[in-house]
Amino acid sequence: MQELTHYINGEHVSGTSGRFADVYNPATGEVIAKAPLASVAEVEQAVQIAAAAQPAWAATNPQRRARVMMKFVDLLNRDMDKLAEALSREHGKTLPDAAGDVQRGLEVVEYCIGAPQLLKGEYTDGAGPGIDMYSMRQALGVTAGITPFNFPAMIPMWMFAPAIACGNAFILKPSERDPSVPLMLAELMEEAGLPKGILQVVNGDKEAVDALLHNEVVQSIGFVGSTPIAEYIYGTGCANGKRVQCFGGAKNHMIIMPDADLDQAADALIGAGYGAAGERCMAISVAVPVGEETADRLIEKLVPRIEKLKVGPYTDGNDVDYGPVVTAAAKANIERLIQTGVDQGAELVVDGRGFSLQGYEDGFFVGPHLFDRVTPDMDIYKTEIFGPVLSTVRAGSYEEALKLAMDHEYGNGTAIFTRDGDTARDFANRINIGMVGINVPIPVPLAYHTFGGWKKSVFGDLNQHGPDAFKFYTRTKTVTSRWPSGLKEGGEFHFKPMD
Ligand code: NAD
Repeated sequence: MQELTHYINGEHVSGTSGRFADVYNPATGEVIAKAPLASVAEVEQAVQIAAAAQPAWAATNPQRRARVMMKFVDLLNRDMDKLAEALSREHGKTLPDAAGDVQRGLEVVEYCIGAPQLLKGEYTDGAGPGIDMYSMRQALGVTAGITPFNFPAMIPMWMFAPAIACGNAFILKPSERDPSVPLMLAELMEEAGLPKGILQVVNGDKEAVDALLHNEVVQSIGFVGSTPIAEYIYGTGCANGKRVQCFGGAKNHMIIMPDADLDQAADALIGAGYGAAGERCMAISVAVPVGEETADRLIEKLVPRIEKLKVGPYTDGNDVDYGPVVTAAAKANIERLIQTGVDQGAELVVDGRGFSLQGYEDGFFVGPHLFDRVTPDMDIYKTEIFGPVLSTVRAGSYEEALKLAMDHEYGNGTAIFTRDGDTARDFANRINIGMVGINVPIPVPLAYHTFGGWKKSVFGDLNQHGPDAFKFYTRTKTVTSRWPSGLKEGGEFHFKPMD
């Protein structure tokens, strides 16, 4: 069995805490590696190294920093298959989906090549007599990020690429479920020319996270994961005076209007509901058909599509629709929630319970499930299931459907399927959710826009990637300068305009 490492000061370093987490191949259920869980001392060592390396990196001109990103993009493309394979092996998602995970991170790295432009700052010539004023964006120093298991390539890159392009050092604490790809990314960044100590990977659990939260040198914390942990990290990080942005869980609704193309809507729901076994924060987990007839027709179209889904290991190639969930505990939790749905009176139209795959009986596979007649008081509606389970809540009207999505505590993403422009515009304007799709089921914004939800899906005020990331990873400093040209005015005692 492979013993994974940390990546500190440009070296693979064995863990010294004596604590490890098992890393599984979810398709077989076997433990394939163990990841070291860092102690406070290991985290502190990484922080010290980062703090020593960062000033020289911040002083490297932004164009040179951007060239590292350019080279990194080349290396990601060179190693795409290798990265996707390593990702699928520990996560379970299909190979094309794993390549998409790398690709969506790569696109943020491409955006960061624009760092010289994005960091240019502002200048006012002649703000007063002989007075010029300029604002510059300066790196924070040592920054850190804590990432979830479900996008082990994309989300680390969403954080470290802008942080590093801005001149910061970055400490990544990836998910202990699938830490191999983050380690590979750190190696590639160094191959691309990044100095040692600027990107380090410290594997770990709560102990490592707490060590980062309480370390005075760490200036900012980025977090993506479940809402209770997001709330804890936001509260603790802010109380310790850090800049913090935390992105949490989701329960994304898709509203299907009576005028929608129902074949298109059903196809969209299949991909958005069951892709990646439902382990996406932008998965659609609630379908809201408007009107009984729409609901009946939609269910009729969904059932045969769901029954055709091919569930299997990533090694079965490109025709697998989705793979196993990440751990036995995740599988047990999904099955528990499905049972609550049945017990609380939802109609289980497609029953994937007892699903087993020949040759992979110990894998963490969950068959696809479709519930109809789900109501807002049920646990399967209130809770993020994070599995291949789609719930249908029938709404009597557009207003009822809109209210349902608005009243849910999560506000990450949502979608509406309709042919009516007025309805679509009204929905986009009124909905209290951060990312909206119109006839698009998973509206993940591209790298040059920003990603973030509302309500309990986010804690903090700036989004991920796009222009917000360059704000999050820099501080503004504004300089007012005067060259008096021999003018002498004596002391001034009143606050006055510069005219
Ligand atoms: P998680 O909250 O269990 O873990 C996320 C990270 O937090 C990991 O690195 C983990 O080691 C760490 N962690 C876990 N428990 C901790 C504790 N008690 N104290 C400190 N740190 C702790 O989440 P996950 O299961 O890895 O990921 C799935 C969740 O992430 C889902 O809720 C999903 O919706 C969410 N997610 C959100 C977004 C978004 O952008 N909003 C994107 C992807 C995933």
